[in-house]
Amino acid sequence: MDYKLHKPTYIKEILDKFGFKFSKSLGQNFLIDGNLIENIIDYSDITQEDYVIEIGPGFGVLTERLVDKCKFLYSIEIDNRLMEVLKYTVKDRDNLEIINEDVLKVDLNKLEHGNRKFKVVANLPYYITTPIIEYLFNYRDIIESITVMVQKEVADRMVADVKSKDYAALSLFVKQNSDAKIILNVPKTVFMPQPKVDSAVVNMKLKPLDNEVDPKKLELLIKSGFSKRRKTILNSLTTGFVDLNKEQLREILSELGLKENLRAENLSLEDYKNIVKRLN
Ligand code: SAM
Repeated sequence: MDYKLHKPTYIKEILDKFGFKFSKSLGQNFLIDGNLIENIIDYSDITQEDYVIEIGPGFGVLTERLVDKCKFLYSIEIDNRLMEVLKYTVKDRDNLEIINEDVLKVDLNKLEHGNRKFKVVANLPYYITTPIIEYLFNYRDIIESITVMVQKEVADRMVADVKSKDYAALSLFVKQNSDAKIILNVPKTVFMPQPKVDSAVVNMKLKPLDNEVDPKKLELLIKSGFSKRRKTILNSLTTGFVDLNKEQLREILSELGLKENLRAENLSLEDYKNIVKRLN
C-alpha cells in the first residue's frame, strides 16, 4: 500500500488545501514517521477479526493503515474541522466509522463489536491522557488492549513500581487494571509540529479486577494517600474516608505489618488492596 499521510510534504499540501491550522489546545501533534507508525500498529497486534477504536485520528495517519488491518474501525475525533479533511484522506472505506465527538462522551458499549473485545490504538492528545485512560478502564469488559502514545514522563509513571521515583497514583491504577509496558521510546522529532517533550508508546493488556476488593474504595484510598503524599499514611489515608478513623487504621496497619509512618509512595498495590479488604 502506498501510504502517504505521514509525509511532511503531503501534510503541508493538506494544510494549504483546507486552510487548516494545528490546534495546540487540542494536542494536535501529528506523526510524520512511517516506520514508527508501522511499529505501533505491529505492537497493537491487530488481525482481520478485530474491532478497533482509534482516538484522535487527526489527518488519518494511523487510520489509513488501521482500516486495512482490522475488521472494523471506529475513529473518534473531537475537532469538527477535521471531518472534511478525513473525508478526503480516508474516503470510501466501508469498515470505517468516524465519530465527531469528545471521546469522553462516547458510550463505547453502543459501538457494535460482534462477540469480540476492542483493541484501542491512539496517539493521544496529551492534555487529557489520564482522563482518557481512566475512562477506557471503565470499559474493561469490552476492551482487550490499549496501545497509546503518551508523554514520556507519563509513560514512566504508568509503568513505575513501588520505590521508583516515578511511582504515582496513576501507576497504581494502571497496575490494578492492566499489565502495562513501554514498547517504544519516541523522540519529539517525529511529530509535526514538534512538541516540547519526548514521548513513549505504552501497551496495556487489560485484566479483570480483583473481585475481593471494592474498586471505588481502592481508588479513594489511593487518591487520599497521594493527595497528601508528604504526610504519613496514618494521616493521609484517613482523609477521604468518613468511616475510617486513625485508631481503626492503626489497627489495620499493625495487622498488616505496615509501619504507620510510611508514606503513600511506600505502599504497593497489594498493600492498598489489603487495607481495603480489612475495611470491609
Ligand atoms: N492520530 C493523529 C496522528 O497520530 O498524527 C493525530 C494525533 S494528535 C496527538 C491528537 C488528536 O486527538 C488530534 O486530532 C485532536 O484533535 C484529537 N483530540 C483532542 N481531544 C480529543 C477528545 N477529547 N476526543 C477525541 N479526539 C480528541
